[in-house]
Amino acid sequence: MSSATVVGAGVFGAATARELALRGWDVTLVEQYTPGNVRSGSGGDTRLSRAAHGSVEWYTRLSRRARTIWLDLQEETGTRIWEPVGVAWFALREDGFEQQSRATLEAAGVPYEWLSPDDARDLYPSLETGDLHAVLLEPEAGVMHARRATQLLAEDGERRGVRLEHGRSTPTDHPAADVVIWACGSWLPQFFPGLVELKISRRDVFFFGTDASWRGTPGFCEYDAPFYGHGEIAGLGAKIAPDLPGEAVDPDTLDRLLSRELEQVARDYAAHRFPALARAPVVGGRVCQYDLTADTHFVFDRHPEHESWWLLGGGSGHGFKHGPALGEYVADCLEGRAEPEPFHALGPRSGDAGLRTAAVG
Ligand SMILES: Cc1cc2nc3c(=O)[nH]c(=O)nc-3n(C[C@H](O)[C@H](O)[C@H](O)COP(=O)(O)OP(=O)(O)OC[C@H]3O[C@@H](n4cnc5c(N)ncnc54)[C@H](O)[C@@H]3O)c2cc1C
Repeated sequence: MSSATVVGAGVFGAATARELALRGWDVTLVEQYTPGNVRSGSGGDTRLSRAAHGSVEWYTRLSRRARTIWLDLQEETGTRIWEPVGVAWFALREDGFEQQSRATLEAAGVPYEWLSPDDARDLYPSLETGDLHAVLLEPEAGVMHARRATQLLAEDGERRGVRLEHGRSTPTDHPAADVVIWACGSWLPQFFPGLVELKISRRDVFFFGTDASWRGTPGFCEYDAPFYGHGEIAGLGAKIAPDLPGEAVDPDTLDRLLSRELEQVARDYAAHRFPALARAPVVGGRVCQYDLTADTHFVFDRHPEHESWWLLGGGSGHGFKHGPALGEYVADCLEGRAEPEPFHALGPRSGDAGLRTAAVG
């Protein structure tokens, strides 16, 4: 039996550990805090799961495969992790990300609707459509309970034989296993400086109090603005997240107090796009960080000096949804059934940073 140590129980590490255990590997999962802790990228309350990725079909297909696994996990465990509300993309122009996504969704057989601004108005209790060109609606997309889903992956992995250990593993520890997967999220560059170019960039998200009419409304992305969020989910309120470039942060020591300045930015957006929320109170929020590659493609590659070590990360603000399908891809590569994609390689990145809203910073 092959053995693996996976370092980091965020969604990437927990999914990889579980997948390897399902395939009969002897797996240890090491986590410095707890799986899905709120300092990790996977520890947020909610994350959008969408298939649209512009013209990049690889991620469209990955997200669809992940959706199937998430829904199976929800059914098998009886734990609600998926809200089937769809995701609406507010297109400000004719030839943007939304239009590029249509061809890719079609090629991958993903259902979508292309709505006129007038037809989109009924999607929310209040929606300003005057400046919209169209709305791309993905009815099979959803909003995930991210922290809960990450913890569920880790728990389900344990049920399937993964040993969860607590502590911080570093490269100087040389973990003993046939294969070591460093899935350290925003901590990856600390341990592998020079090998991984990641920007660890602060993001604040806000929840605004709503009435029940906002339940069941689609998640939303405004790619060009850039904002994203969702309606009322599980009593949290409506999420509005400004996706503006954020300051570099240390994920261990950052005090996670919401920025008043960004609250105003979120409120101004709410007042513009969802006028009924203009005076809604802030009822919660979170401060988290992205681990951004320059081109928003993930990182998955072999360490150049340690044959048996692999580096996995660079979720770049859009990794969550893909977790369990990424675990399958990683396991396929470890077992020699697939090759890592060249666009996940270590080293400098250049090219279009287009896989999520506001990809700069
Ligand atoms: C505000 C925000 C909004 C987002 N929105 C979306 C969205 O809508 N949809 C989407 O798909 N994605 C979204 N993302 C991105 C997504 O959440 C991340 O890409 C994903 O969660 C990253 O998972 P990860 O496992 O790579 O990293 P993490 O979740 O950060 O996990 C890394 C784990 O490793 C542990 N660790 C690190 N170093 C060590 C060590 N040396 N030893 C032991 N343990 C260690 C950490 O404690 C942590 O638990 C968003 C991210 C943020 C911050």
